[in-house]
Amino acid sequence: MSPGLARVTFLGTGTSHGVPMIGCDCRTCTSTDPRDQRLRPSMLVQLPTGANLLIDAAPDLRAQALRHRVRRIDAILFTHAHADHVLGLDETRRFSSLQGGPLPCYGSPDTISEIRRVFAYAFRGGHEGGGVPKLELVAVEGPFQAAGWPVVPVPILHGSLPIYGYRVGGLAYLTDCSEIPEASWPLVEGAGTLVLDALRDRPHPTHFNVEQALAAIERARPGRAFLTHVSHDLAHEAVSRRLPAGVELAYDGLMLEVEA
Ligand SMILES: [Zn+2]
Ligand SMILES: [Zn+2]
Ligand SMILES: [Zn+2]
Repeated sequence: MSPGLARVTFLGTGTSHGVPMIGCDCRTCTSTDPRDQRLRPSMLVQLPTGANLLIDAAPDLRAQALRHRVRRIDAILFTHAHADHVLGLDETRRFSSLQGGPLPCYGSPDTISEIRRVFAYAFRGGHEGGGVPKLELVAVEGPFQAAGWPVVPVPILHGSLPIYGYRVGGLAYLTDCSEIPEASWPLVEGAGTLVLDALRDRPHPTHFNVEQALAAIERARPGRAFLTHVSHDLAHEAVSRRLPAGVELAYDGLMLEVEA
């Protein structure tokens, strides 16, 4: 990889149910287009140093790591503690044993305390057999370094829940967003690559729909933009045809190079 560039891989671009959804026979869920198969939302950022940052630990983490041959994770950035973003954390046991040490996990104070509660067994001690994930939970309230690389949390709203998006170099990753507060806009504007959630066309109380995501993209004026956290309401081919230039529907396995 060229120096100064990070490689970003969309490990999962689906909403919490994934696509296809269990028990659904709709056009998207039965589509033969591989881009309509969406695992739960997560992103891998391979830094120019060779370190790997994972954004969220989706329940599909094991399948995602095998599919993309991820052998090392240096840090996890958590956007929030909803199940579709944290329940893959147990799968990091394998990385702990390959790497030897605890895995640094960053998030807001609320996200970190919720993870500590949900994964209480990992901190209780006395576990034998398959073991428990070895985690070093770090609450962050402003810019910090993950694997020695600068990361900036971007406070956003997910319905009434305050959560984080993240800015890593030229990449802004804002999933589960229903509003970008005024104070956060300077962190979003000027991103070379903006990733935003766009659940569906109909409005939703805790996620941008396509129209709202496009309005935010128009204001942010990124170099290019990608939509993620996509439900089965949106079929890849049909939606892609109506998106404006510079905006694409992301899909699982999509890789980009971004300014680090
Ligand atoms: Zn469906
Ligand atoms: Zn959520
Ligand atoms: Zn979500």
